[in-house]
Amino acid sequence: MVALPVLQNRPAAAPQVQPRSVRLSLTDRCDLACIYCRPAGKEGYFEEKLDLEAWQTMVRGLVAAGVRRVRLTGGEPLLHREVVAVVRFLDTLGLDDVAVTTNATRLERLARPLRDAGLRRVNISLDSLDAERFARMTRGGRLDVVMRGIDAALEAGFDEIKLNAVIVRGENDTEVEALVRWSWERGIVPRLLEVMAIGEGANLKDRVVTASEMRARLAHLLESGDATREKDRGPAGYLYARHDNAKKVGFITGTSDTYCKGCDRLRVAADGTLRPCLATNDGISAASVARSGDSAGVALAVADAWTMKPDGESFKGCTETSAKDVSMRGIGG
Ligand code: SAM
Repeated sequence: MVALPVLQNRPAAAPQVQPRSVRLSLTDRCDLACIYCRPAGKEGYFEEKLDLEAWQTMVRGLVAAGVRRVRLTGGEPLLHREVVAVVRFLDTLGLDDVAVTTNATRLERLARPLRDAGLRRVNISLDSLDAERFARMTRGGRLDVVMRGIDAALEAGFDEIKLNAVIVRGENDTEVEALVRWSWERGIVPRLLEVMAIGEGANLKDRVVTASEMRARLAHLLESGDATREKDRGPAGYLYARHDNAKKVGFITGTSDTYCKGCDRLRVAADGTLRPCLATNDGISAASVARSGDSAGVALAVADAWTMKPDGESFKGCTETSAKDVSMRGIGG
């Protein structure tokens, strides 16, 4: 078997939980450059990416290692030429979940083929309903294109559509209620994210809007009480609308209250590196085993990468200094 390079030092304690959920960064390319994610200038892209066959081996290995839920992300996953084929393959595996996180710029054309291929759920990143602000926050994105993508997703009839909005003080913090109402009107579940000090977000530390502040702005719309996490549904804490439990809002507190304890997520970067934590650059390359068709080798690499997972008790995720050196684009949020 090919030796697996260790990229950085291992933390002392390995966690008890097993990897159950994986985010595959199909490509590190993105057609937007959100102010909290990618730098304005051109970044280099990974030279060595996995082809469809290597991704299939990678996923077989992940499943052999216990993974049950797969989310495609990026970069922008819908820029990958074979994204529909990847979903079609995932659909054959009897997984508990197959989902995508996308900026929706390509969704108008791809929503139907992705749904037909077996995609169940879609998370759409949208920070503003104002075309000018949207262009500014994404450094050039077109809101009309994204809106057409969202309409196509609604028509395709996915099991669930969520909206992810990163709230930045002095930018879209005035739109918190509008984003929630707009989503509810369409049967979309809004989720409001604190800026995390990861990648470009590290430059926006003084512009973080905490979940408790967002919640205060929505107090007249929401039930009081504690936000609740949903089993196997990621880190968001949800609160329901007053007198209407068909509507809810998710809050993702990546900065004010990290949620590392019990994390069962693994990430695979577009170059085939297995990354056990969003907030560190630790990882192990499984690219060569995946390319050689060795899914058992991938499963071994997963076990090895998992020992690098921070303990989640003393480690505080994206508030750790290691986070600022991580590129979100490469590992998919
Ligand atoms: N291109 C896809 C998209 O736009 O959804 C997938 C990749 S993107 C990196 C995944 C998610 O990470 C998006 O919802 C984005 O808003 C979020 N994200 C990126 N940088 C972030 C940061 N510094 N803090 C909080 N969320 C961030």
